[in-house]
Amino acid sequence: MEYNIAVVKGDGIGPEVVDSTIEILDLIGEKFGHKFSYTEVLAGGCAYDVYGEPLPKSTIDVCRNSQAVLLGAVGGNKWDDLPGDKRPERAILGLRKELGLFANLRPGMLFKALEESCPLKAEIVGDGFDILVVRELTGGIYFGERGIKDTENGKTAYDIESYSEMEVRRIAHIGFEMAMKRNKKLTSVDKSNVLESSRLWRKTVIEVSKDYPEVELNHMYVDNASMQVIRNPKQFDVLLTTNLFGDILSDEISMLTGSIGMLPSASLGTGTGLFEPIHGSAPDIAGKGIANPIATILSAAMMLRFVFDLKAEADCIESAIDKVLNEGHRTGDIAKKGEKVLSTVEMTEVIKDVIKRG
Ligand code: NAD
Repeated sequence: MEYNIAVVKGDGIGPEVVDSTIEILDLIGEKFGHKFSYTEVLAGGCAYDVYGEPLPKSTIDVCRNSQAVLLGAVGGNKWDDLPGDKRPERAILGLRKELGLFANLRPGMLFKALEESCPLKAEIVGDGFDILVVRELTGGIYFGERGIKDTENGKTAYDIESYSEMEVRRIAHIGFEMAMKRNKKLTSVDKSNVLESSRLWRKTVIEVSKDYPEVELNHMYVDNASMQVIRNPKQFDVLLTTNLFGDILSDEISMLTGSIGMLPSASLGTGTGLFEPIHGSAPDIAGKGIANPIATILSAAMMLRFVFDLKAEADCIESAIDKVLNEGHRTGDIAKKGEKVLSTVEMTEVIKDVIKRG
């Protein structure tokens, strides 16, 4: 089979981690008999330098016409003084909008080999955990009506949280679909004891759950959920929530997993899906060849699983990374004092070796 992927390397360490990931994809293609075709396009600061804008139309067109987008990271000090609409980060928001990406998927998994970098006690995390946060991305308070007005108490500012049944229904379907591909458990997080929008959220999630009788559904208030991910993260499989609550909970969960260089993400919606590491362009280490490529490689594994339905291929990448970590290979961000530190290229090579052997 041939698969078309738009590649946006971006800025800083983006090109370094994406180059590694393409090597892994090519090897997987060889091993399993697929061809991955890449169309490289510019977005972010590098696009601004060439086109005078961070997200040129030609980039949007290529992304739209591909089956998936693989993105490194955008941004850097060089472009910090540009006006808002020209800043590299605008490219990400623009792509989300243009591709209709309303669902953000962020796995928070703790590899057994990195247990020590988790701030929780060993008896809580046991042999690791694996949570998938499914966050609504284009609705809620971040996109609701907002304003500021003069009142007798001085200025009063407001931001309105609002969700339509359609918005909840479509993100809930993504959550349940993901649960079906995993351990068939979904926790919907809301604040329905206080918020009207959360009451509609909960009612709609319950309605959608009727299409997925195999998935065990439970509900949790967001304040309780924020405690439960610390108290017992292993209880969660898929955690479905709103834009605001998901923003906060996914960062909380990422702190439990060790390094930011390990965590992938996917954004899905009505059009082409976007796959990217959760980290930024890391200008402090860009060009040094020491970035951890694992978050981007795991993002590619998500692409294989969710867009191309290549489960064995995604499993092969994920278990190779698990093995490499168990064998003690580390980039600087995940190495303990005194441990040997691999470069980006060396880490890529050891992952390739395991895939070849496996
Ligand atoms: P960052 O994630 O780039 O870096 C935070 C810290 O983590 C740095 O010390 C960095 O060296 C380290 N780090 C990040 N990724 C790593 C990796 N793969 N391997 C080893 N170490 C890694 O966050 P920041 O410093 O706040 O932002 C830098 C730039 O990236 C800014 O311009 C910001 O706007 C942008 N950014 C872009 C995205 C994106 O493209 N989606 C996301 C976040 C930040």
